[in-house]
Amino acid sequence: MKIIIWLMLFGNAFTAQALMKVQQISPDVYALVGELSQRSQANLGNNSTHGVIVTDEGVILIDSGASYLGAKQIHQIIQKITDKPIKIVINTGGQDHRWLGNGYFKKLGAIIISSAEARKDQKIRVNSQISRLDRLIGDSLEGTTPVFADTVFKNSYNIELGNTKLALYYQGGAHTLGDIFVYMPSEKIMFSGDIVFNDRMLGIGPAKNFQSWMQVFEKMAKFDIKTLIPGHGRASTLETATHDTYEYLLFLKKEVAKILNRDGSLLEISNIDQSKFHYLKNYESISGKNAGWVFEQMEFDY
Ligand SMILES: [Zn+2]
Repeated sequence: MKIIIWLMLFGNAFTAQALMKVQQISPDVYALVGELSQRSQANLGNNSTHGVIVTDEGVILIDSGASYLGAKQIHQIIQKITDKPIKIVINTGGQDHRWLGNGYFKKLGAIIISSAEARKDQKIRVNSQISRLDRLIGDSLEGTTPVFADTVFKNSYNIELGNTKLALYYQGGAHTLGDIFVYMPSEKIMFSGDIVFNDRMLGIGPAKNFQSWMQVFEKMAKFDIKTLIPGHGRASTLETATHDTYEYLLFLKKEVAKILNRDGSLLEISNIDQSKFHYLKNYESISGKNAGWVFEQMEFDY
């Protein structure tokens, strides 16, 4: 009996938090890689990838997590890497895991930066994001209050902390309306936020503008990139990002164009054979929806 109770306790402790994996990119840069599946009570909403840069004057965090507890989890992981304080938090977009942990880091004294478009998008969608999280992560939402960026920019913004320089660029909507990419020239590292999904299938919403997403990706891809830390999945190269994100969007565009060119209907999108992207997680649940969204957008333009 004692053994069973012990196993139950241990089991609970073990599943209570799905830990994020730490991927070291360079001596001072890390990717924190969350689960690829849906937001859950165990992952605290952090089904996303985040960037951490340790400078001689403190830490820059790329994306604050989906909840107060999700932010705390990120902070605890950072504390295992360094005892330096979190000085700057960048929100790369409007999706919950990019910004709903802001309140936690604001209390620690961090400055929060996003594009003006991202902050606008967050303000419009905050209530629906909170109610969705309430449904998906339940008790793990405890303590979460929306806190928006105190510094916003229109097209580009430069950050300097200690010896570290970063350049932030807003080039139009991608996965969400205010997505930005963040470039670190000294290490040739690109932090793409939700502009890149590695290892899992992207979802064309919430911005539902795959053409703008492709254009933003093309602008990002012009940079000299050694390592790309995506918004979802493992850090990798521009080549992987192109394969898992850009080529998928291009594929859908070409397949939907074939249907529209013969005056086909929305019903025909189920005939598109997307199986070459089957290796991406969440393929079953999202591939059909993606084709539908591409059709809707392209039909409007035709
Ligand atoms: Zn995301």
